[in-house]
Amino acid sequence: MEKIRYERPFIIKMNAGLMNKFGTQSVNEPVTHIESVSVKGMLSEYGSPLFVISEKQIRRNYQNAVRIFKTRYPKVQFAWSYKTNYMNAVCRIFHQEGSWAEVVSGFEYSKALGNGVQGNKIIFNGPDKNDSDLILAAQNNSLIHIDHYDELYSLIRLSEEHGLKPRIAIRVNMDTGIYPKWDRFGFNFENGQAWNALTRIANSDNLELVGVHCHIGTFMLSPTAYAVAARNLCELAWGVKERFGKMLQYIDLGGGFPSTNTLKGAYLPGTDTVPSIDQFADAITDVILGYGFKHDELPTLILESGRTLIDDAGYLLGTVLATKRLSDGRRATILDFGLNSLFTSLWYDHKISPAQKLGNQTEEMVMFGPLCMNIDVVRESITMPLLQKGDQVVVHKVGAYNMTQWMQFITYRPPIVLIDNDNNTHIIRKGEDLKYMEELEQIPEHLV
Ligand SMILES: *Cc1c(COP(=O)(O)O)cnc(C)c1O
Repeated sequence: MEKIRYERPFIIKMNAGLMNKFGTQSVNEPVTHIESVSVKGMLSEYGSPLFVISEKQIRRNYQNAVRIFKTRYPKVQFAWSYKTNYMNAVCRIFHQEGSWAEVVSGFEYSKALGNGVQGNKIIFNGPDKNDSDLILAAQNNSLIHIDHYDELYSLIRLSEEHGLKPRIAIRVNMDTGIYPKWDRFGFNFENGQAWNALTRIANSDNLELVGVHCHIGTFMLSPTAYAVAARNLCELAWGVKERFGKMLQYIDLGGGFPSTNTLKGAYLPGTDTVPSIDQFADAITDVILGYGFKHDELPTLILESGRTLIDDAGYLLGTVLATKRLSDGRRATILDFGLNSLFTSLWYDHKISPAQKLGNQTEEMVMFGPLCMNIDVVRESITMPLLQKGDQVVVHKVGAYNMTQWMQFITYRPPIVLIDNDNNTHIIRKGEDLKYMEELEQIPEHLV
């Protein structure tokens, strides 16, 4: 007979299905399948931990967002924010659906070209574009969004030297009532800097001014802030029309719509508090439609939504390595993934479900990752059934930013599997191994 493990007895209050003031305690229903593919099956086939992405969910999210905006405004274009998740398979799903690419570095720009996006459908944002990036983007007719005067002057010089006439817009920062203000990117609206930059561009023979852009923040909870942003961009577009007799082709309101994750410290879950895309769309389109542009000169509305389109399409599956009691008697569960793979556990109280049926008794516990580092905490406090070594868990809504901001530290980064529309699974990024990790290292002669 197998020996039963001994644990020093503790007297601790157990909660089973207690009521609280919001109703019954949230149930810990096991999640055994994702899009009807077995969680256990995927873990045994591909190993643990494992990222899983649902192609169906990405397409549902995208089509839903497009429908919401297109039923309110005649000209709408989405551009996929590469930094939110630049796995090529993911980007290609968005491009197949009709999304352009929104990139913020030469690296991301190359990835977009590699994914078959036409140059004129790539939006190049961000403060870091070097001369060769700018030349390539100009030659490809991409939309270059200027971040600062140094970039503007470089682009004017390069355009003259190379006989180019790039299509450009400026990024505008502004006070939308959200603090801290994001004023480090682009040209300020209130102090006239944005208008000065537009004037400089409109007066240049080597630049074609085509739009205005802003990205006012991320995980924004206020549709009103977007109404303010839309009004300010309309005012700039109107000014360009009045002063230079030229209607801008587009107004780009950036990304920033929240996903339904729960921010750390929030009183209620994100699913109950986050405004819907409809509310953001109403706020934005009411302003543009009401601004006074003639119908045939309405600018195209560009959106660069990232997290709201992908977060709930991503899952992280993992395994319990051990459980222990901390010195204060709290239960601790150690998982085989931590901050290294799940960067967003710094921001969110991620929902975590057991992947198998466990007992009805629950206990408040802390969930640690596997790193030998004190800050490696996945959840500071979560009430869960009594997970044991070998039990498996599913973390929800991890599709945004984790697969780009993950860090290689102490362990390898896990593989990523895509569940396609027919529920077939495909590896879209292999797990790392020693060979991959050491590929770029070199040993100097005297240490060989
Ligand atoms: C990051 C970023 C986005 C996407 O932001 P989300 O908050 O994920 O929607 C869009 N535009 C720009 C310029 C960005 O930097």
